Amino acid sequence: MADRDIDDLVAEWVREEIQALSAYHVPEAEGVIKLDAMENPYTWPPEMRQAWLERLRQVDVNRYPHPQAPALKEALHRSMAIPDGMGLVLGNGSDELIQMLAMTVGGPGRTILSPEPGFVMYRMIAVFLGMEYVGVPLRADDFSLDTDALLAAIDRERPALLFLAYPNNPTGNLFDAGALERVLDAAPGLVVIDEAYAPFTDASFLPRLGEWPNLVVMRTVSKLGLAGLRLGLLAGPAAWLDQVEKTRLPYNINVLTQVSATFALEHGGLFRRQTAAIRSERQRLFEALSRLPGLRAWPSEANFILVRVTAGDASELHRRLRERGVLVKNLHGSHPLLEQCLRLTVGTPEENDTLLTALAGSLGEASG
Ligand SMILES: *Cc1c(COP(=O)(O)O)cnc(C)c1O
Repeated sequence: MADRDIDDLVAEWVREEIQALSAYHVPEAEGVIKLDAMENPYTWPPEMRQAWLERLRQVDVNRYPHPQAPALKEALHRSMAIPDGMGLVLGNGSDELIQMLAMTVGGPGRTILSPEPGFVMYRMIAVFLGMEYVGVPLRADDFSLDTDALLAAIDRERPALLFLAYPNNPTGNLFDAGALERVLDAAPGLVVIDEAYAPFTDASFLPRLGEWPNLVVMRTVSKLGLAGLRLGLLAGPAAWLDQVEKTRLPYNINVLTQVSATFALEHGGLFRRQTAAIRSERQRLFEALSRLPGLRAWPSEANFILVRVTAGDASELHRRLRERGVLVKNLHGSHPLLEQCLRLTVGTPEENDTLLTALAGSLGEASG
């Protein structure tokens, strides 16, 4: 037994679709300006940090966390204005909620459907669970929904689960609300509106929970400024959420996250100021990007801006920016509609200035 080859064993037993995957890659970002992952660039004032540490001092890490996290749920209900009568399921990031949703309604022979380009985890989790994944291309010019194609795909595939990121990642736009209404009317299965970028837009389907029997809304505190805590939430009617809750691992929201997120949500004013600053920087950055020759920028309702390199090579530009100390996301090669595209997270005014200077210098070099 001991002389069997480990690689042969792995090849024999690991599911083929898992062997074919590459692990989610996170680049080294030591000492660079990090504009690749939609993080809030602002930290907390020293007094608030001190008060938070005082709160953490009272935590007993020898005990399991509260399995239902009632204090945190109460804080989320209040701060996100979850409609009365709607329940919440918490996830270790909304990534985990996507997995729980897929485990609840998915499985072999069932389909996850989503517009593309979109959030990569929808497809990944479909693969993990042996489900079919169908991506329906957005329109090439402005990344709006191709409603007819989407409705035809819904009719053909009858997806168990349909994900709509609102605003969409990595394109930054909001889909037309009327089109989403038609999709909700037509979809036979569960429709998840993923509002990860809610802090950066005024549009939301959260107040409309209950209007459709198949609508749930997913949010996260990651893009708000708490990416390190790993906390996502699913809001919707109890009939759905009671079932999803059964797939939740008992203590998925750890004590440090429960206490820290509850504390943070008591300081809503700070996050409103930070996200307002990011929104106004988004506008300034968009205007400056639009003036750069060799680049096309798309308007965004999120905390990032999608750009296409129209004169030169996106991978080369990505490398040059990295050399100048700025890390952005290279999307070239990830989807046919994202050819020569980069995604730029909106940073502080200083970080955005550094990005703009680095872009101007690198684009100049690339075309000269
Ligand atoms: C970032 C992101 C998520 C994941 O958020 P976490 O809560 O950090 O797991 C989900 N959906 C979309 C569209 C995102 O961009």
